[in-house]
Amino acid sequence: MKPAGVVRKVDQLGRIVLPKSLRKRYQMNEGDPVEILVQGDHIILERYRPKCIFCGSMEEVNDFKDRYICASCLTEMTGLQENA
Ligand SMILES: [Zn+2]
Repeated sequence: MKPAGVVRKVDQLGRIVLPKSLRKRYQMNEGDPVEILVQGDHIILERYRPKCIFCGSMEEVNDFKDRYICASCLTEMTGLQENA
């Protein structure tokens, strides 16, 4: 991790404005979901990408009834149903 060279103050509501240059660089647009992660003393902002509820994969994830499942787990589940 390296400093972005920017210091910002947290406002009354806990908000911080991300500099335009960083938003542009990391292709963050208005309304984009951002996940907040913590690692020791660090707070990390990451573009939110849905993860499979079974294996945690972020590849080929599909939305099913407000849950996310990857293509691999879906194939596995389909196989279980066929063998039942
Ligand atoms: Zn999965």
